[in-house]
Amino acid sequence: MNPLVICPTCQKQEPIHDVLTAQSNQNVIYTCNQCHHTVRNIETSKG
Ligand SMILES: [Zn+2]
Repeated sequence: MNPLVICPTCQKQEPIHDVLTAQSNQNVIYTCNQCHHTVRNIETSKG
């Protein structure tokens, strides 16, 4: 099962493991491979 993430800018759907980068401080950075839109510190489902 591959959860998909939709880019808020270009609407491209990509597997979450391809576009999310986990940081050492448990923050997660989303980077779109198509338009290179970046979102820092996005929220995850983990409480
Ligand atoms: Zn994009």
